[in-house]
Amino acid sequence: MPKNIPEKGAALQRDGETYAIIPYLPGGIVDTAQLKKIVNVADKYQARTFKFTSYERIAIIGIKKEYIDKIWEELDMKPGGLTGKTVRSAKFCVGKRECKKGRQDTFKMGLMIDEHFMGIKTPNKIKIALSGCPNSCGESAVKDIGLIGTERGWNLLVGGSSGSIPMIGQIFKKNLSDDEVIQNIDKIINYYIEKDSKLRLGRFIKQISFERFKKEVKIADNLKKI
Ligand code: SF4
Repeated sequence: MPKNIPEKGAALQRDGETYAIIPYLPGGIVDTAQLKKIVNVADKYQARTFKFTSYERIAIIGIKKEYIDKIWEELDMKPGGLTGKTVRSAKFCVGKRECKKGRQDTFKMGLMIDEHFMGIKTPNKIKIALSGCPNSCGESAVKDIGLIGTERGWNLLVGGSSGSIPMIGQIFKKNLSDDEVIQNIDKIINYYIEKDSKLRLGRFIKQISFERFKKEVKIADNLKKI
């Protein structure tokens, strides 16, 4: 699967001299041992600061270039700072494992989504978010692909964005099982790649109409079965 991670998993910072790295911590979930390791390594190599990003990542900022390889070696973690036109790691709330309002298991679903789609190159970036219930703490309605847990499964939304022109995602399918979620995201991403629009998914759907999008994604699915 093609990945789009900056060279050495590090991004040059505004000062033009230092770098930031982002370890892959699925859903922003981190245990005490991992957190201690991140802090100790950052201290040892004189990182300037941390940033807990809106996408549930920990960015270690202000690293000298000569330390990047040693830091990755000592962290022993995969890079998670995907950039550019690619499917990003999924964002998810704690879901029913930790939250009394949770209806679905966001941990399990989020990891399945990352395993299947994270790093795939797409015509424009794709952000995916999951919320374990309609309270939508994962901000599912403002992501390219959003999932909201209900008593009967997952509602799948498409076309949301919190960017410069915010858009609310529209419901593509309701009450999906975990496997159906994967199948439907696969269909949507394949269709988006095939159409090769440079627009973000929501703007592309607006351009062609939601009705046409739903119809053509379904047709693409039928053709695949023949
Ligand atoms: S979206 Fe629902 S399940 Fe997730 S943290 Fe918020 S209230 Fe809990």
